[in-house]
Amino acid sequence: MNYHVLTLFPEMIEQGMGHSITGRAIKNEHIHLNVMNIRDFTENKHRKVDDYPYGGGAGMVMQPQPVYASYEKAKEIIQQQGGSKKTKVIYLTPQGRTFNQEIAKDLAKEENLIFLCGHYEGIDERVLEEIVDENISIGDYVLTGGELAALVMMDAIARLVPEVLHNDISAEIESFSDGLLEYPQYTRPVEWHGKKVPEILLSGHHANIEAWRKEQSYKRTLERRPDLLENN
Ligand code: SAM
Repeated sequence: MNYHVLTLFPEMIEQGMGHSITGRAIKNEHIHLNVMNIRDFTENKHRKVDDYPYGGGAGMVMQPQPVYASYEKAKEIIQQQGGSKKTKVIYLTPQGRTFNQEIAKDLAKEENLIFLCGHYEGIDERVLEEIVDENISIGDYVLTGGELAALVMMDAIARLVPEVLHNDISAEIESFSDGLLEYPQYTRPVEWHGKKVPEILLSGHHANIEAWRKEQSYKRTLERRPDLLENN
């Protein structure tokens, strides 16, 4: 999996991806991260990348030239890497379809994902029309920029890339993987603040534990996310 991120704030992406499981996946080369600063591609001598919106209104709009040039560079890098050219360009935007585990699963099958992060009031529509394959939102709220949204997506997708999680099974039985939320989890000690771990989990009886977990999963989904059951 090769991630390419077009952004005005590369440090946010590098920091956000550089730790824990994603950091290890990058180090072990299960994931390649290519972060490109859109500002490096501007032809403006003051390194400006935005301007006032035509028609008036608040804020600034990112200009098409540097965005397109950074996209072209990403494509060039993908060509040089050889292999399959399977690439999707994703624009992070509150106007896109809402990201979920199903979308993460589909995108995990791609070889190259280019994430385009907007800032300010967004990006000139003309360049979006030319390069974007998918508009994706991480929820019905407005962020200051697409970087956090790109990080959310990259993290969720990375967990579905073979080899990233050492324990392959854990991604398969988590919340949403079968349309239900996961059952409650417990670890040592057996008793904490007067609360005991459910007896059945200490029984060593795998079939009973499995049945208990299924029941808990269903109960929890019914209580917290009944909409998931309606969709099943
Ligand atoms: N004016 C835009 C609108 O109303 O649709 C919002 C621009 S927002 C302030 C700046 C950038 O943040 C966007 O270009 C987008 O890349 C990102 N962004 C904001 N909210 C987002 C969300 N919910 N999901 C994904 N990206 C988001």
